[in-house]
Amino acid sequence: MTTRTTCPYCGVGCGVLATPQPDGSVTIAGDPEHPANFGRLCSKGSALGETLSLEGRLLHPEIGDARVTWDEALDHVAKGFMSAVSEHGPDSVAIYGSGQLLTEDYYLANKLMKGFIGSANIDTNSRLCMASSVAGHKRAFGSDTVPGNYEDLEEADLIVMVGSNLAWCHPVLYQRIVAARAQRPQMKIVLIDPRRTVTNDIADLHLPVAPDGDGALFVGLLAHLDRLGVIDSSYIAAHTSGFEAALLAAEDWSIERVAGATALSAVSIARFYELFARTRRVVTVYSQGVNQSASGTDKVNAIINCHLATGRIGYPGMGPFSVTGQPNAMGGREVGGLANMLAAHMEFVPEDIERVSRFWGAPRMASKPGLKAVDLFAAMARGEIKAVWIMATNPVDSMPEANAVRTALATCPLVVVSDMNRHTDTMALAHVRLPAAGWGEKDGTVTNSERRISRQRPFLPLPGEARPDWWIIGQVAHRMGHGRAFDYEAPGEIFAEHVALAGFENEGRRDFDLSGLVDADYESLAPVQWPVRGKSVARLFADGKFFTADGKARFVPIQPPPAFALAPGSFLLNTGRVRDHWHTMTRTGKAARLSAHMAEPFVEIHPADAEALGIRRASLVRLSSPHGHVLVRALVTDRQSRGQLFSPMHWTDQFAGNGRIDALVAGKTDPVSGQPALKMAVVHAEPA
Ligand code: SF4
Repeated sequence: MTTRTTCPYCGVGCGVLATPQPDGSVTIAGDPEHPANFGRLCSKGSALGETLSLEGRLLHPEIGDARVTWDEALDHVAKGFMSAVSEHGPDSVAIYGSGQLLTEDYYLANKLMKGFIGSANIDTNSRLCMASSVAGHKRAFGSDTVPGNYEDLEEADLIVMVGSNLAWCHPVLYQRIVAARAQRPQMKIVLIDPRRTVTNDIADLHLPVAPDGDGALFVGLLAHLDRLGVIDSSYIAAHTSGFEAALLAAEDWSIERVAGATALSAVSIARFYELFARTRRVVTVYSQGVNQSASGTDKVNAIINCHLATGRIGYPGMGPFSVTGQPNAMGGREVGGLANMLAAHMEFVPEDIERVSRFWGAPRMASKPGLKAVDLFAAMARGEIKAVWIMATNPVDSMPEANAVRTALATCPLVVVSDMNRHTDTMALAHVRLPAAGWGEKDGTVTNSERRISRQRPFLPLPGEARPDWWIIGQVAHRMGHGRAFDYEAPGEIFAEHVALAGFENEGRRDFDLSGLVDADYESLAPVQWPVRGKSVARLFADGKFFTADGKARFVPIQPPPAFALAPGSFLLNTGRVRDHWHTMTRTGKAARLSAHMAEPFVEIHPADAEALGIRRASLVRLSSPHGHVLVRALVTDRQSRGQLFSPMHWTDQFAGNGRIDALVAGKTDPVSGQPALKMAVVHAEPA
């Protein structure tokens, strides 16, 4: 029997058809009816069937290294958390979750922490991925709303890709653009990225901007649009506020000044500005090169400012478009899975706190934001976190200053990890190991980058004693004395509560509204874009109404950071994904053909830099920073700019002795969003 489900990797959220075979294998195909991919899959998605073995799975609960029963493990977790709370207060405990959790799991973790333990110390690896887009959306729109959809990328006459290697990181979206361009060759594509990535193969113009120079590039664009007289004054007057202040901040940014800040030629900047100015249907699509920066939120708003100034938002083929990294980064945001948000896009303001508390019947509602990811592990290192529960993620490898995170976890009195894998670098530090269900076994929903909610459905039995995350969270809540509020038999009941909360005292005031799904059949739920008020809404803001108090969008005045000055002998290290691996490789590492693409950790270095350092092609290189060091293979390529390096984020101690690249990255964060600057580590390189 074929099961209709959703890919567990990137934020494109492709529909997958999974068919178990009599020999125990599973045939995977793209779902031709899913609106994200219409049957397409990338290399990772099509190899999903090769990642389903039980090798390396955690199949039984463990305390220390001893196998225990579920009752013993759950009692231990509940008692450990309750005693930390009673001795040190609710802010002494924390949950660190993941964009791999399904919405139902996320919802319960958030409810337990914020409503029943009484702390907002629940953050997730979505902080590393999307937090600056969330903050930028809220500043501009009054809500965390992605205005458009994937069709806009196909209907645009100009696609501006910023800090995004779409060809490798969102491959099916890239394939859709390639197909659309084949139909409409007049479509133009500009790639703004310090690296000449594979995505450049379809670009008409590549702007190899200096790291973090993209802020200045879009501030200069706003000034240039005004100088050219292509600003949409009537749109600005009717639907926005703050334009004059944003323009005042931008007006000194001539093309020559932008060239100085971006290391781009004035000619190429002028060409980009001209294309943007003269094309109405423009989509600016961006991801981690924008978000993972100490000025990420400002960069998001610098982009949105240009779309607001030209009224290019909410209509087919135009708008700013943040593409998420993970399958359920959006779903996590929807249930409040970040330390500074409440559920259903509500905020830490008195009326929202009271509303959510009343809806949940919460005995101990959190009243203030909690610790964001980097701050959370720093607090742990200071001994302030006495118990932490990590769900479906591997912060010992993926957090900046990863060695310090490892040390912090090693000193935390109670570390609980629920995961499907027994041997991650984080699992090695767990006092309690809880076997969680994985893709193919889990049942729930995810939300992709275009606000589309899709079902992930099980097609395999639960192995060993593995259980779904929602069940594990509910059982711990029961043992903490909150049974009635966590009495769910199936994930559909949790989804129904999530739908009810989204519509609770909403009446169109909040963007996230699922009232049209109140009577939906969960089992057969077809992919649907929120908001769903009667029917699904494909684009927002076409009516010029935003979710601010006065209904107007906000321009944000942006002061780009000064050009980055490197000390002699140092390099700027950019980190990111390769085509065929995912995060810390716990799934993709099982598929031999995926590992064949890039077999080991490496560093891309420009030929002139390699020669100056005496680094030969394929030789070993030692990269070091004040936070750690790694040994990686040299990939000498002129795709890399001089003075800059690139290394993938995937390899761990589990897969390669010494390739944990995030051990080098400083824990510097964006001051608005708290998102770490994972694209900007200052390192030293030498032959090993
Ligand atoms: Fe999965 Fe993303 Fe590939 Fe689609 S593009 S198959 S969601 S990894």
